Amino acid sequence: MYSKSLHGGNNNPSNSSLNNNGNGSNSGFGTLNSRIKKATPLPITIAKKNAQPLLNAYGLPISAGGATLSRGNKNSNVDLTDKIRVCVRKRPLNKNELRRGESDITELAGKRTLVINEQKTKVDLTRYIERHAFTFDDVFDSNITNEDVYKRTAAPLVDYIFTGGKATCFAYGQTGSGKTYTMLNEKNGLYVLAASDIFSMLNHPEYVNIIPHVSFYEIYQGQLYDLLNARKKLFAREDGKQQVCIAGLTEYECFSVDDLMKIFGHGNNVRSTGATGANADSSRSHAILQICLKDKTKKMAVFGKFSFIDLAGSERGADRGDADRQTRMEGSEINKSLLALKECIRALDQVSKHTPFRQSKLTQVLKDSFIGNSKTCMIATVSPNSGSCEHTLNTLRYADRLVFNLYKHLK
Ligand code: ADP
Ligand code: MG
Repeated sequence: MYSKSLHGGNNNPSNSSLNNNGNGSNSGFGTLNSRIKKATPLPITIAKKNAQPLLNAYGLPISAGGATLSRGNKNSNVDLTDKIRVCVRKRPLNKNELRRGESDITELAGKRTLVINEQKTKVDLTRYIERHAFTFDDVFDSNITNEDVYKRTAAPLVDYIFTGGKATCFAYGQTGSGKTYTMLNEKNGLYVLAASDIFSMLNHPEYVNIIPHVSFYEIYQGQLYDLLNARKKLFAREDGKQQVCIAGLTEYECFSVDDLMKIFGHGNNVRSTGATGANADSSRSHAILQICLKDKTKKMAVFGKFSFIDLAGSERGADRGDADRQTRMEGSEINKSLLALKECIRALDQVSKHTPFRQSKLTQVLKDSFIGNSKTCMIATVSPNSGSCEHTLNTLRYADRLVFNLYKHLK
């Protein structure tokens, strides 16, 4: 169909040696306050000057999420080659939010801290703002382009897969916060930008034997569906060497961005049209686009791999006002996989610890990205409007848990 040969899935992960580089390579920790005070002054009275802690309306320190476990101060160099990177991206307010008169409650404080100004009401009905500050490897403001996000997230991972590594980029957040825009945007999602660099690298003579293969599938309610083969149900199996492979997964050889975009467009159409009728709403499924580099001199053994993952919306069914059984089941399945994902990413950083990848289909099929030579970048996407405050805080707390583990030992 795309003038490329089609292969049955023969996932054959290699490189299982443990590698714990990039762990905690940032140094020079500062306090939250030393960063926040440099930001534009906030229009609230509770922010104290200089080194005083930020207090809420009751005089208590703000619930600063990751603030006490920040990854370096704003002067320290962020290491783009870290094994795990956790970034946050906020989108602009959209027309509907503006029409409703909603305000932007998110505010950057320095380059790496996002402050959420939660609007609250005291018992005596006076209104006040509770500030929550979270610090990550990078925070991308609403005007930052996909190209710039790419440079600080996926681009360093492209180099990594050419050293034989497995790289994974996740977009995590509530529905409507910008996951697909970031990861699988047809024009300039991170997958397109990365593919362009990957195909350029493949022009180097030393990679003449490396053949890129593309697959695109979806996980809905713990079941795999091949988006490049009419949403055929697929099954993941673990072979004798404990390597997980997806039997019958369609893979296209692909050497140009144009080809990739055609393949992607086809799969994306299948995704949004809901061929089975069971999954009309793509926000309830995880979409996984993989570019797998295989070595034709080694029986197509996997040389390196890049996975781009557009996760299901992180909100629970109940929060969306959906009460039917199907939606609740979807919600619990999604919660299970997002929880397992968090545990697996955290385990990435601890060489000897067990990786609980069997706890969900998502983590099971990504097993080779959680062990051995692997690096992960999580991009948490947030909606800036006041109506999304609770979801935004939940997203940032989830992302913050990923950072937490990295710095526990440095406390
Ligand atoms: P999700 O996949 O998380 O449900 P989408 O990626 O579909 O959310 O984004 C929702 C809407 O917001 C889309 O119309 C998208 O074009 C727009 N959008 C998301 N992020 C940005 C951004 N950073 N800049 C401009 N528009 C954005
Ligand atoms: Mg989406």
